[in-house]
Amino acid sequence: MKKFLFPLILLFGSLLWAQNGGPNIQNSTEPNIVHQPLSLLSDFTIDQDDFVNQCIAMVEENNIANTIITLENYGTRFHSKPSGVQASHDIKDWWQDLADTYERNDITVEAFNHSFSNQISVILTIPGNESPDEIVIIGGHLDSGDFWLQDNAPGADDNASGIATLTETLRVLLANDFQPKKTVQIMAYAAEEIGLNGSADIAQTYKNQSKNVLGVLQFDLTNYKGSDFDIALNNDAQYTSSELNLFLIDLLEHYNASGEHPISYDFSKCNYACSDHASWAQKGYKAAFPMESAFEDANPNIHTPNDTFAAMNNDASHSVKFVKLALEFVIETAKTIQLNTTEVNAPQLQVTVNQNKLLYKIDHFDSPLKSIVLIDTNGKRVLLTEQPDNQGEISMTGFPAGAYIAVFKAENGKSFSKKFLLR
Ligand SMILES: [Zn+2]
Repeated sequence: MKKFLFPLILLFGSLLWAQNGGPNIQNSTEPNIVHQPLSLLSDFTIDQDDFVNQCIAMVEENNIANTIITLENYGTRFHSKPSGVQASHDIKDWWQDLADTYERNDITVEAFNHSFSNQISVILTIPGNESPDEIVIIGGHLDSGDFWLQDNAPGADDNASGIATLTETLRVLLANDFQPKKTVQIMAYAAEEIGLNGSADIAQTYKNQSKNVLGVLQFDLTNYKGSDFDIALNNDAQYTSSELNLFLIDLLEHYNASGEHPISYDFSKCNYACSDHASWAQKGYKAAFPMESAFEDANPNIHTPNDTFAAMNNDASHSVKFVKLALEFVIETAKTIQLNTTEVNAPQLQVTVNQNKLLYKIDHFDSPLKSIVLIDTNGKRVLLTEQPDNQGEISMTGFPAGAYIAVFKAENGKSFSKKFLLR
């Protein structure tokens, strides 16, 4: 979160006031999103239930806590401090290590260098299998501190929590062998606290290169629950996309209204360019910013030496909800192809095709199956069988010849998939 420069406002008056978006009085009481045409939603659909539910069940609070603590321990991540520069390179290494762990040679992790700082921004790219030119971005800033707080800026909530949210989102995607149709980029921005500089540099470059960014989701502060609801969707008309906000509502209603992953939400505004989403919005891209609390309920410790994990009761459960939303957003916007040419490591699974019948058998596996889904080469689900036996057959009569993926999901959360050819 970038500080609202109130003392300078007194000095420079209306100039800065206008630059920061001003008080926006006529919009302050009405949620602007309800006035937008719903037809804008047509680009965004929700149809990845199985994969999303499989992923959001795997979010680990401990991983988030560990990342927050590790980043807090740099002491400061102010962009010009050696530890701040080191942290930026270390985050690049961690993300590269995750890609290596899951043997994803298709993933790149790059430094985005800035002329104004030695701190780098980090861009991880999972290339799309079908529409690689269409890009979905989630991001958050990696620096901490501000002009008055450079040396003792632990920044646990602001914004180690955001980097931890992105890192856990990445881990879960890779653990589930996420193969997107569209390109997904995860960004850790440099030097946000001094004026959104890192993200502004990247957004300008993307605009210059006419990159087709479908949407940008910002994670800045995710671990302090200041309001009596979980997530405050920033609906500042100047810096957020009503279309994206509507899609986030759709996701939250679809996946989190009830069941095992409940997330409550409401709306709020900063009324100034308070975080990196504004950099993208100012270049004409669709951006959204789900906040950890209403703006008026903000964590009182941010931008102080007291912004520690301990001050958040050593509890990362609030961030878990943001990881789930990030997973829902990434998977539903980029869509998974779920078509691996390499067979999933499932030695217990046998699949054969004989006379238009798919014969399957799972040995040495003590959980009952929950479902079998068949997916064609377009990534389309063509068949769903619920509560099947661990050994059986599925009629493929009437299905066009070609390659398919059979995805077997077990009640214990494990899943196996196997590609097969129907002649
Ligand atoms: Zn901040």
